Amino acid sequence: MAEKLAIGGGNPILTRADYRNWPVITEDDRRFVNEVLDSGIVAGATGPQAVALQNEWREFTGSKYCLTTGSGTAALHMALAAIDVGPGDEVIVPSYTFLATASSAMHQMAIPVFADIEPKTYTIDPVKIEAAITPRTRAIMPVHIQGCPADMDPILEIARKHNLHIIEDAAQAHGAMYKGRICGTMGIAGAFSLNNLKNLCGGEGGLFVTDDENVLHRADLVRYFGDECDEQTMRQKYNASILGYMYRNQELPAALARGQLKHLNALNDTRIRNSEYLTRELGKIPGIIPPYCPPDCKHVYWFYAVRFDPQAAGLDVDARRFRIAVEKAVFKEGVLVGQWQVMPVPGQDLFHSMIGIGKRYPWAINEAQGVTYKYDPRDYPVAQMLCDTYTNIHSIHPPNGLDLNEKVVEAFHKVFSNLGEVMDHADDDIKPGFDGRLYGVG
Ligand SMILES: *Cc1c(COP(=O)(O)O)cnc(C)c1O
Repeated sequence: MAEKLAIGGGNPILTRADYRNWPVITEDDRRFVNEVLDSGIVAGATGPQAVALQNEWREFTGSKYCLTTGSGTAALHMALAAIDVGPGDEVIVPSYTFLATASSAMHQMAIPVFADIEPKTYTIDPVKIEAAITPRTRAIMPVHIQGCPADMDPILEIARKHNLHIIEDAAQAHGAMYKGRICGTMGIAGAFSLNNLKNLCGGEGGLFVTDDENVLHRADLVRYFGDECDEQTMRQKYNASILGYMYRNQELPAALARGQLKHLNALNDTRIRNSEYLTRELGKIPGIIPPYCPPDCKHVYWFYAVRFDPQAAGLDVDARRFRIAVEKAVFKEGVLVGQWQVMPVPGQDLFHSMIGIGKRYPWAINEAQGVTYKYDPRDYPVAQMLCDTYTNIHSIHPPNGLDLNEKVVEAFHKVFSNLGEVMDHADDDIKPGFDGRLYGVG
C-alpha cells in the first residue's frame, strides 16, 4: 500500500531539524576574525584582511587584479563604470538572473536589453545575444547561473566580432570552470558576491577582478567616491576626479571570506557530490528533469534546480500547476524546496512602470531619438518555461550530505507515486520556501 502523503495527513519524511545551516564556520574563520579584533583595524581599502583577501582571490582565480567591494552588485556597477558604459548605452543581460545584473546597468544610466536563456543550462543563449545587438550595444553580461558556466566561447566570439565588452556576473559561481578557464576571468572584468547565500560567504561583500590595469584603476576610483589617495601620505585627497560611490568592503566580512576561502574547494566538492547524487537518483523518476552540466565544465551548484514535466510523469495537466502541486507536496514531506526567481526579469514591475531614475530614465535618453523599449516576459519563452516548471532543492549545501539527500530522494519517490493525490492538493494554502537561518540570516 502506498504511504499516505504528508499533504494528505500522513507522516513527513523529513523535518527542519534534519537540515544543517550554511555557512560552515571553522577555526579559520575564528582565527581571521580574531585577527581583526586584535588588530583594532576594522576598515579601509588597505586594511590587512581586505588586502589579503584580494591577494588570495587573485591566486585562486588567476586574475591579475582584485578589489574587495561592499557587494556583488557594487562590483558589477564598478565594472560597467570602469569600462565607461554610460547613458543610453545598451547592455545585454540574460532574461533569467538576479535583478542586479540588469539594474547595475541602469545605475550607469545604461539600458538593459534582455536575451533569453538556453533550455538546458539556463544561461544566456548566444544566438539570442546576437539578435539583441544594436548600434547602441556596448557590453554583454553573461551570468554563470546557479553555478553553471555560461557558454563563453561563442559569447566571446560575438563580443570580438561586434567590438563589445564582456563583464561576467560570477556572483553564483565561485570556482566554476568553463573548458579549463575560471568563471569570472574570461571577460574584461568579473564580479563575485560574498553575500550570505553564496558559495563564498563573507556575510556581505563582493569581489571585482580584471587583468586590465586601466580598468582596475578606474574601478578603484569608482569604489570610493572617485577620490584618489595621496601616494606619499596614504591619505585621502578629498578631490574627486570622477564620479564614484561608496562600495568598500570592511575588515570583518573580508576576514570571514578569507576563512571560508580556505575551504571553498572542499565545500564546492560537497555541493557537487550532493548534486550529482540527486541528479542520478531523481533523474530515474519520470517527470523530474535534473540540472545539466555542460561537457568540460565545472558546475558548482550554488542552488540546485529541478524542473517537472507532467507529460513525462503521465499526467495531462498544466505544467505550471503541476510544479506548484509537486512543490507543495514535497515541501509538506519536509523537503525544503521553493523558487528563487519567480518570473523572467523583464516581467518585473520595474520594467513595466519604466519609472527608473527620474521619469523614464535611462530609457528616455534613447526614446528621445525615436528608439522604443518594451519589456514583455512573453518575449522570453525559455525563461518563462523555466519559471513555470522549476523549483530549487535546498539540501545540497554543506555541511549537509548524502544522508539528508537520500531522504530527499525518498520524499520525491513518495510524492511521484501518489500524483493523483498530489494534484488534489494543488490549491492547498501552502507556501514552499525556507527560513533565513538555513542560509545564515537571523
Ligand atoms: C547575488 C547576486 C548578485 C548580487 O550580489 P550582492 O552581493 O547581493 O549584491 C548579482 N548577480 C547575481 C546573479 C546574484 O546571484
